Amino acid sequence: MIYNDFNGLKLSRLGFGCMRFALDPETNTIDQEKVNAMFRLAREKGVNYFDTAYPYLDGKSEGAMAEALKNYPRESYYIADKFPGHSLPGPVDNRALFNISLQRCGTDYFDFYLLHNITEWSVKIYEDPAYHIIPDVIALRDEGKIRHLGFSFHGGPELLEAFLTRYEGVFEFVQIQCNYLDWTLQDARTKYDIITRHGLGVWVMEPCRGGKLAVLDEVSHQKLQALGGGSDASYAFRFLQDLPNVKMILSGMNELFQVEDNLATFESHLPLSEEERETLFSIAESLKKGVPCTGCRYCCDGCPQELNIPYLIECYNDYKYQSSFTASMRIDGLDEGRKPADCVACGQCAHACPQGIDVPSVMEELAELYEKGPKWSSAAKSRHESIKRDLNM
Ligand code: SF4
Ligand code: SF4
Repeated sequence: MIYNDFNGLKLSRLGFGCMRFALDPETNTIDQEKVNAMFRLAREKGVNYFDTAYPYLDGKSEGAMAEALKNYPRESYYIADKFPGHSLPGPVDNRALFNISLQRCGTDYFDFYLLHNITEWSVKIYEDPAYHIIPDVIALRDEGKIRHLGFSFHGGPELLEAFLTRYEGVFEFVQIQCNYLDWTLQDARTKYDIITRHGLGVWVMEPCRGGKLAVLDEVSHQKLQALGGGSDASYAFRFLQDLPNVKMILSGMNELFQVEDNLATFESHLPLSEEERETLFSIAESLKKGVPCTGCRYCCDGCPQELNIPYLIECYNDYKYQSSFTASMRIDGLDEGRKPADCVACGQCAHACPQGIDVPSVMEELAELYEKGPKWSSAAKSRHESIKRDLNM
């Protein structure tokens, strides 16, 4: 196992993400024996970091993780958990929620604790004085119940820079979606640079983009095989291993063969050759279905609606690859009058765009994708209810 030094700790570079344990569709329960077997193997081969969150698997992930770790000395591994600010029904007793997580995880402290899922929308909750979230987690850290504080992030680079500047010295690490596709698709490259410049560690989630980079289309798969073999997933992990400030790579494993394959990749660091790296980037380009916006902002000055066009195009490109809550949350976070439906199709931007992007058509399609796509506000209702139940509200 490759290890990293992080603020005096020796962290396995591969962390076990506990979001994807398979649920039995009939009983809606986790196959604990399977989780135990995966953890046994991971522990034998040196994995010492386990990442869960309050809402994962309807609250069942924390308990399943604790059960699989119960026979190992507590000081021999690290637990990361997350505060679900983006899922709250309103201001709640934050400490009570934190204590539920501690109890479910069978511990009295968290090695790592994150504000879960900061975006342009959820940051308003996290920073709302009525919710009192950030002062409470800082207090919990000062009391020793949290050893290292960080946050997971799904927003854009501008927000990341502003948030880190506002909270300089508070956080030690930031968890971002990063892989060779999102390096450009979600501008993970810029986010990596921002986090590194602020002197914090980069934690990676979605190293294989929800499994998509682990099972590529046949043409892309053959391109990698022609380079000498190794699983598709191994190439995705090696891309990340080459980034020196990536201190933790979380993989949400739910099958034993995935654990075996990942452990083999993390036995040693095998840097990508230039040819391998170029091949990964060309595969990434072939997977994208959006428009080639470079973020130059030449289009922005003349927009009568003052839309943040490159920001909206990032959301559009994200939707075009795969519909998810991320893009809709980012649009939810925009002020009224600044959303894609507010485009009046004047065409100024299209004339200014050196890439020849038909921005008015993009805005029209984006407005539709946003309107018809998944909305966090609907999905969050069941989370609100379960938090209310947990807190007896
Ligand atoms: S077409 Fe839409 S996005 Fe482009 S400048 Fe006009 S209002 Fe702004
Ligand atoms: S001018 Fe074109 S490439 Fe530049 S930010 Fe606007 S849409 Fe993107």
